[in-house]
Amino acid sequence: MNGSSLDIREAIAAAKAKCLAGEPLTKEEMVRLLDIPVGSEEDLLLRRTAKEAAMAVTGGKGYIWCAVGMDFVPCSMNCDFCSFGEKWQVIKEPHHVTEEEILKSVRRYVEGGAAYIVLRTTEFYSVDRLLSYIPVIRKEVPGEYVIILNTGEMTPETAEKVAAGGVYGVYHALRLREGMDTPFDPAVRINTMKNVSGSPLKLISLTEPVGPEHTSEEIAEAFLNTVRCGAVIGGTMARFPVPGTPLGDTRRLTDEEMAHLVAVLRLSGGNVVHDICVHPASPQTMESGANVMVVESGAIPRDTDFAENDWHDTSMLRARQLLEDAGYAVSSVDV
Ligand code: SF4
Repeated sequence: MNGSSLDIREAIAAAKAKCLAGEPLTKEEMVRLLDIPVGSEEDLLLRRTAKEAAMAVTGGKGYIWCAVGMDFVPCSMNCDFCSFGEKWQVIKEPHHVTEEEILKSVRRYVEGGAAYIVLRTTEFYSVDRLLSYIPVIRKEVPGEYVIILNTGEMTPETAEKVAAGGVYGVYHALRLREGMDTPFDPAVRINTMKNVSGSPLKLISLTEPVGPEHTSEEIAEAFLNTVRCGAVIGGTMARFPVPGTPLGDTRRLTDEEMAHLVAVLRLSGGNVVHDICVHPASPQTMESGANVMVVESGAIPRDTDFAENDWHDTSMLRARQLLEDAGYAVSSVDV
């Protein structure tokens, strides 16, 4: 073993010690781990170490995150990676999910062991309309699950109203190259994240959508922003290139690359980010420290067709299988 390999092994051990002590890594420490070549011996050590840390931090609990895409409609924000951007004109038959369709999906997800039921929308969906569904879902679908919204920007007042409406948490992210690949002012996105975590709501935020062009520095900075904003679930999502969008001819990251990212993020979040979510999930990512996986249906910003059933190779059975194969017990959230 050469000197630098030894140094990297020491850096991995030090990162695990910090993680178990509840201390987030610094940007420099994260970049060092992110720069380990994917597939190298050191990478495999990093991933094994992250899995050990995950088991210790989570107590072996894994969670299924089930998203219902509510509105398959053009969105005027036109993010470069999103099929809903109205300028890309790839949505041919707009569709708003009906109450009946929502209940059908939620029932199926809850029966399959979902911990999180997520109502996901484009940027300008009415929050009041979303909140009107919460009591209906609760009445019609009993079970031990929490409800999450993934929608547009929120003021402190909106966040309080959403919490009072029976919502557990909100997904919101400062996307990679926000303001370049999207028209948003990054400060606006960060404000919403802070407004959520400053309310009774939990903030959930992934480092996304990751493509091959993103540098270790950008990824580390984006993840540390989620830590600073107080996200309780972090993680990462790959960019799924959608034909017809400006970033549609890029490459999707491999499962090995995603596993590498997951491992670094797992060791980096201290006692702020408790759970690590990954999309798409694979045996490699679940063996590298992720303990939350995504199943989704309806309007998917990663596709040009409405998904009547679970999208691509996401399904409740597969989610359970991946979590259990990695040694996690499929659990509900302690509230
Ligand atoms: S990512 Fe969100 S805000 Fe951007 S175009 Fe898609 S739906 Fe609209």
